[in-house]
Amino acid sequence: MLMKSQITMNPSDVDEGTPVSVKIRERLLAARKRFHANDNIADFIEPGEMEQLLDEVEDKMKGVLSSLVIDTEHDHNTDKTARRVAKMYLKEVFNGRYVSAPTITEFPNAEHLNELMIVGPITVRSACSHHLCPIIGQIWIGVLPNEHTNVIGLSKYARLAEWVMGRPQIQEEAVVQLADLIQQKTQPDGLAIVMEASHFCMGWRGVKDMDSKMINSVMRGSFLKDPNLRREFLSLIPKKEG
Ligand SMILES: [Zn+2]
Repeated sequence: MLMKSQITMNPSDVDEGTPVSVKIRERLLAARKRFHANDNIADFIEPGEMEQLLDEVEDKMKGVLSSLVIDTEHDHNTDKTARRVAKMYLKEVFNGRYVSAPTITEFPNAEHLNELMIVGPITVRSACSHHLCPIIGQIWIGVLPNEHTNVIGLSKYARLAEWVMGRPQIQEEAVVQLADLIQQKTQPDGLAIVMEASHFCMGWRGVKDMDSKMINSVMRGSFLKDPNLRREFLSLIPKKEG
């Protein structure tokens, strides 16, 4: 006679139907880690899971297209759109959520540089977390090093910016995230960031204003305390129109 207890499932069978996004979410919840649109969750994704996530997002995108009443079966322009959009989100425009921080080698400040250094303009590409519409603009970074400040190569600022901006963002939060990251990597006396960007959710929808730009700045350390330094930085970055 077959006892009920003999019909057991092994854990991998139970796991089979669980979407990979649910597994990742469970790990985040267990670790009490925030997973807002502009958070990086790379540490919670296991090898091979990005490919599964790609399939899952593709599947859900097919559902969105179908609900938009688009005949993807007969419209050759859209038959691969679900896959393309899934790839664009996961591997391109929101990649900064799913990959670890770029490896940046920091060097000691051997030359004891202590003069204002400005990096920019760095082109930034992001998307607003309200509408997932593009945000495209430029940033300028001002650094006032001290003898203990770590030095990183100029191109590394762009790589850090790309990583932070490659997530659905709110401009005000994006500049703060970038400032925190640069502060933590280089420990300067002062750090200033100005970001100027066009928000496509203003031009493409809503008020349909093509010209409006948003400008944000973050000032840290000596840039906060010293108005002359702040003025020097702002006078050296190109004048904003208007
Ligand atoms: Zn928006």
